[in-house]
Amino acid sequence: MSEFGERIAEGLHTVYDGELLHAEQTPFQKLEIFDHPHFGRVLVLDGLIQTTQSDEFCYHEMLVHPALTSLERVERVLIIGGGDGGTLRRVLEHGPTEVVICEIDERVIDVCREFMPDVSAGAFDDQRVRLEIGDGAAFTAGQKDAFDAVVIDGSDAIGPAAVLFSREFYGSCRRALRANGLLVTQSGSPMYQLDEFRMAFGNLSATFDTVEPLLSFVPTYPGALWSYTTATDGKPVSLTSPLVVRLRLAERDISTRFYTPELHQGVFALPSFVRDICAAAVPASVPRG
Ligand code: SAM
Repeated sequence: MSEFGERIAEGLHTVYDGELLHAEQTPFQKLEIFDHPHFGRVLVLDGLIQTTQSDEFCYHEMLVHPALTSLERVERVLIIGGGDGGTLRRVLEHGPTEVVICEIDERVIDVCREFMPDVSAGAFDDQRVRLEIGDGAAFTAGQKDAFDAVVIDGSDAIGPAAVLFSREFYGSCRRALRANGLLVTQSGSPMYQLDEFRMAFGNLSATFDTVEPLLSFVPTYPGALWSYTTATDGKPVSLTSPLVVRLRLAERDISTRFYTPELHQGVFALPSFVRDICAAAVPASVPRG
């Protein structure tokens, strides 16, 4: 057995015992696959747990469904990152005509398809998918009025994913969106990754009219509490009613293991400490909501 886990903060790290099945240094990051008695196959990039077979649904459903269920029309979607394919699989459930996924590291896709194929469940073979291998920020900069939604499933705000939390990148995303389109990004732990959460909320607030974090949990992430932040110049995502959520899930024949119409309302109700972080993160030039 090999130990793996994450060094979250000074004196705070998680440790798991698992069997190392694969390890390589890609041109972008260290890539490892472990097999864990409870979590199943685990993808680790640069020492940080990205996704596990046992709780990937907690993450991928809550990254994708609240945002895309809020859109009456889901035709073209851009995914940034998401090399394990779990986000792509959930986006395709909303019936888009085309999904472009821009992943910087092709080895993540290849290795996840080999060692944890159930996460993508064949999504990469869907005829509606266009795969771009490259930096998501560079790709997005060349897009205009092209997508109903941008879903950012990047790793943590270090290494190649740091750019995916920048104001410049969010500005590119806004230009790439059609009118009333929306963006959703994984925005880290509001407990242990304050910088990442603040950067996402502050830079999105400087770019879009409405920015709304939602909180959920992913057992294998630091402290389990996890955030996803939505941004739009159109109708706020939190205003989609449970009835509309229920109708659209039924229309799109989407079954879920985590997301529910009632949960859609609950997850936008933030604890006071998170609301305080958001209020402090809004740049002075942007009116405080
Ligand atoms: N669920 C994970 C999380 O919350 O951190 C994310 C998982 S997904 C595997 C993260 C992916 O983002 C990786 O495959 C990584 O290669 C990709 N990535 C990182 N930086 C990127 C960039 N600038 N452009 C495109 N993809 C990027």
